[in-house]
Amino acid sequence: MTALTYEEARERSRLIDVLGYHVELDVTGGDDVFGSVTVVRFGCREPGAATFIEIRPARLRRAVLNGQDVDPAALAGNRLPLASLHAANELRVEADMPYSRTGAGLHRFTDAADGETYLALHSGLDNAQRVFAAFDQPDLKAAITAAVTVPGSWTVIGNGLAHPAGDGRWELAATPPISTYLFTLVAGPYHSVRTEHHGIPFGLHARRSLAGHLGRDAAEILDITRACFDRYREIFTEPYPYDSYDQAFVPELESGAVENPGCVTFRDEFLFPSEVTQAERQTRGMVIAHEMAHMWFGDLVTMRWWNDVWLSESFATYMGFQVLAEATGFTGAWIRGSAGRSCSGWRCSAPPAEPRSSTTPAGTPPRPASSARRAAGRPCPSQQPSRPPGRHAVRRWPARCAGFSPTGSRTCAGPWRCGQPVSPSRRAALCLRILGRTSGLTSSSSKSRSQRSGVSSG
Ligand SMILES: [Zn+2]
Repeated sequence: MTALTYEEARERSRLIDVLGYHVELDVTGGDDVFGSVTVVRFGCREPGAATFIEIRPARLRRAVLNGQDVDPAALAGNRLPLASLHAANELRVEADMPYSRTGAGLHRFTDAADGETYLALHSGLDNAQRVFAAFDQPDLKAAITAAVTVPGSWTVIGNGLAHPAGDGRWELAATPPISTYLFTLVAGPYHSVRTEHHGIPFGLHARRSLAGHLGRDAAEILDITRACFDRYREIFTEPYPYDSYDQAFVPELESGAVENPGCVTFRDEFLFPSEVTQAERQTRGMVIAHEMAHMWFGDLVTMRWWNDVWLSESFATYMGFQVLAEATGFTGAWIRGSAGRSCSGWRCSAPPAEPRSSTTPAGTPPRPASSARRAAGRPCPSQQPSRPPGRHAVRRWPARCAGFSPTGSRTCAGPWRCGQPVSPSRRAALCLRILGRTSGLTSSSSKSRSQRSGVSSG
């Protein structure tokens, strides 16, 4: 498959203007493929010119451009050539599309707990073309309507409000113009908690086997959602841009969460199976706030090309911490968040682990985890006298030590597990010391961190 280059995207956005998509999917046809029909209307600024649309089908059944058949055999990799364009064009593409098992495209998952099947679509970065025929680049925004045919017991959730239309067909309201990478669908026998806030329907969704987990945490999640929602409306002085706000906790999502307009998807590990620390609840709150910030910055306003995605993510992270601290009970969000990110940076900049010696005898037990090795035989840093640590010392500190978090346990719970009380001022000092050291990183260190981190964020 050919990846779209910046130059190709710039040329295509100069040539065409996408007016709207209508996408029809049928997911009742088995475990391997689903039916996909796309009707896309688009204008061309140079009638007679040519371009292409992307699609990655299992089988391209038919394509019709302005009433003329396009030979399916013309599909080259993921590009279907479109020649002799008019000023106004309509393209219809019919295909069988493969389900994804890796999270790229329409991911299909069967729950081992009860045998139920769930679908969730992740279109970023260029995976919308795994579901429908798309001019798959972020600056060619268009309104999208969709209809999905599903088994009778299923629920469908998407960017626009979804309504059952009978015989397993669900119709989704038109979105405002959105980038193709933000198109999503969630379908399956989901358990839902629904409410309304300022006239906007809010929904929480989880697979049935996690209904108990969702039920236990729904009040907290909705409280955070409402508080952040109100604060963003104040800050941005711009109405919420979409017709609903769903938060779906879906299985096997690659990212922590994805900011699809009107329908944020979270990995369902955020529905905790048991009691967790306050720090973990704050992390979930931060992700809720981060993704909501994207509704305005990232979704309503979107970068033209991927080289500016850093700004979208950085701004959402900044706003996430700020709004969480201002509007919810997590008033220490900045301190723990900053310390946690700094520790992540130090871990990423650490040298690779030592290779196992070739002379190590077979059957030798594996070495203990690095944090435990570092802790063994050393005094816990939370109990040591205050002194500026060297870079090496900082690396040895436990990144997840609750002593770093004013909102966490009041005794050390890091790898040292010394159990000694850690005063609030001591916790703050540890945080600030790490931040001070981290701020002195060189640009080459920063580059090294980003290259090694491989962290995906949504
Ligand atoms: Zn993000």
